[in-house]
Amino acid sequence: MGMNQQLNSLTRKERKDLKVLALFTSVYCAAHHQAESGPLKNLPEELAHLQPYMCCDECQNFLLYAIDRRLKCPLEEKPTCKHCHVHCFRQGHREEVRKIMRYSGRALIRKGRLDLIWHYFF
Ligand SMILES: [Zn+2]
Repeated sequence: MGMNQQLNSLTRKERKDLKVLALFTSVYCAAHHQAESGPLKNLPEELAHLQPYMCCDECQNFLLYAIDRRLKCPLEEKPTCKHCHVHCFRQGHREEVRKIMRYSGRALIRKGRLDLIWHYFF
């Protein structure tokens, strides 16, 4: 996917965004697939900071896809994905993203961790 090349030059903002993606995916996974959840596997070195987030295989596949999309986002100023006009996620995945982000956003709000999601997806 040419991902490794891009990973070598991650900006602070990108690293942070990827962390938010991993956080949201792991919150969703913990609530829905806890039995299959485990540490992320075969992460490239540049994504080592995502290691603490646990996911099942399915959610990890989704997360890696989302990361790839995020790194390929052509917009310099990141709008929240909700308002984006590029629609980089193919149909199906887009609903998946929405479902996961909505669920985890609410879960984090309930836990009082609004600080983690402010300025991102909502
Ligand atoms: Zn899962």
